[in-house]
Amino acid sequence: MERHDGLDTNGLVAGLLRELAAVQTSTQKRWGYKRAADAILALDSPLESYVRADGTVRKIANVGPSSERIILEVVRTGSSATVAEAVGLSGVDADGDRRRAHFLSGAQVAAALADDTLDGPSLDDYRGDLQMHSTWSDGTVSVAEMARACRSRGYEFCAITDHSYGLPIAHGVSMADLARQHREIEVVNRRYRGRFRVLKGIEANILGDGRLDMKPDELARVELVVASPHSGLRVEADQTARMVTAVSTPGVHILGHPRGRQIGSRPGIRANWKKVFERAARTGVAIEIDGDPRRQDIDYRLAEQARAAGCFFALDSDAHAPDELGFAEVAVAHARLAGLPMSRVVNCWPLDRLLEWMHLRSIWSDR
Ligand SMILES: [Zn+2]
Repeated sequence: MERHDGLDTNGLVAGLLRELAAVQTSTQKRWGYKRAADAILALDSPLESYVRADGTVRKIANVGPSSERIILEVVRTGSSATVAEAVGLSGVDADGDRRRAHFLSGAQVAAALADDTLDGPSLDDYRGDLQMHSTWSDGTVSVAEMARACRSRGYEFCAITDHSYGLPIAHGVSMADLARQHREIEVVNRRYRGRFRVLKGIEANILGDGRLDMKPDELARVELVVASPHSGLRVEADQTARMVTAVSTPGVHILGHPRGRQIGSRPGIRANWKKVFERAARTGVAIEIDGDPRRQDIDYRLAEQARAAGCFFALDSDAHAPDELGFAEVAVAHARLAGLPMSRVVNCWPLDRLLEWMHLRSIWSDR
């Protein structure tokens, strides 16, 4: 079932379960619905194929009976009265469509990757991932282990982009620890003798006024700066000025998960994206498609706008563990649906071209 907002049944059910999770008062129930939503979003066949003729649902790992009830409701009626009622009763706004629009289910990702009528980049064109986290902030494994996992996916490079010190909730890395991390990265790189390159990155935090939580001399100490919003993600007011300032900041390479949305939980930043993209195209900052299935930010529809504005793109996993590196495939699927030319996708560039762009962005100034 394909809907006007691009969602299939899997995407719709995952979004609804996330919304149901958000209004639970018990931590255990909240966790259960979230886990079920993630499991359904990851399925590579449609939920319709899980419903038996007798009206029961085939077992899906991590999906319990109350989530199965929602599946049956949606497959039968196209919506869920249960979720509508629960969300309505909780007093949360019912703007669910905006929080779910243009999310791809695992089945749609697989279809977009296999569809050779699409123009965008393929997995074979993808040379390296430019947003991921290690134990230096909120990731689960070391730099060396992330590098090894990227190598085994056939990449030529990756960037370790732990959270900056301005985000204590994600165990942001101090400047002193960042210096230690850089020595660790140099050791890893020496071991690969040019066959693979780990880039020294950071995920800096965009403050409310669009400036970053790191000073210019601190930004200059890293090779690749992903600037991302982590606050003001439920604000109704327009935040165009904030995002324009962010992509105008010297030293920034990538605008990470630009809206900060999450499926079924928050719609993210409202802005005149055309203006933000036009500014980014002028400054040479790449717009990220964050492939985390819960984020998918920006999505293919918004990416079409950024393509028209002339932007560069970064397709990243935002992995916090090696098994999340596959999220890059979700980003590639969106890029294919948006028909992004390979020449505009920085992950598809040879390393020397990527390094040149990184250097030019690092020395760029508006003056
Ligand atoms: Zn982030």
